[in-house]
Amino acid sequence: MRILLTNDDGIDARGLRELAAALEGLGEIWIVAPDLEQSAASHALTLRDPLRVRHHDERVFSISGTPTDCVLVAVRGIRGVLEPHPDLVVSGINHGPNMGDDVTYSGTVAAALEGRLLGLPSIAFSNTNWNPEHLDSSGQIARQIVSHMIDAGPHPARLLNVNLPDLPRDEIRGLRATRLGVRVYRDEIVAKVDPRGRPYYWIGGDPPEWVKDDESDFGAVSAGYVSITPLQTDWTDDADLEALRGWENDLAGTSHRA
Ligand code: MN
Repeated sequence: MRILLTNDDGIDARGLRELAAALEGLGEIWIVAPDLEQSAASHALTLRDPLRVRHHDERVFSISGTPTDCVLVAVRGIRGVLEPHPDLVVSGINHGPNMGDDVTYSGTVAAALEGRLLGLPSIAFSNTNWNPEHLDSSGQIARQIVSHMIDAGPHPARLLNVNLPDLPRDEIRGLRATRLGVRVYRDEIVAKVDPRGRPYYWIGGDPPEWVKDDESDFGAVSAGYVSITPLQTDWTDDADLEALRGWENDLAGTSHRA
């Protein structure tokens, strides 16, 4: 069993180190992570710049790219440089939550998504605190979950998103299988002026708020539970697909009349 670890907070992030230490012994651990922080990089792929690979230690590498670049390069491999041939992709432990609608921004979740799209079972871990105090507890739980995932056997279609409350191990109440919550967006564009008198803008606003829902990821972590959400990659809205069938006839002659 070879396990590829990555993240979006960068190779030096505490969460990644904690994850590597926590998973020791479950398989051969490879780390391929961005050289710099890439939070909110989403599923970006670097196509207009070269990628530099830096070898830090026997199975530890950083790449001058996004989390998605790291997983793609690691899974495809670079002959003679980087050949992990992973069986499992684990992303995190992110500093900060990745729940609900926000998973679309997440580099942590995108790294796991890339693993899943390449046919590997993949899992993302996030501690819900942007400055986590209990990464040791998160690491212990991550180990339990990854170990469970390995014992469950091959399941290539699996993409799991885990959010861990930033609590000591004995204060975590358990694990809940959840669905993605719905975010109340309150971002504000803050306008300021730079030292040279030119205006600049910064995306800011209050911390995220959520529609109350006990079955959601947000509902679980706010009640002190670890949230585990299975994600799918097919974004097709089946209900709306049926509604759009009606457009087929309505718009059939459009191009002729135009
Ligand atoms: Mn991050």
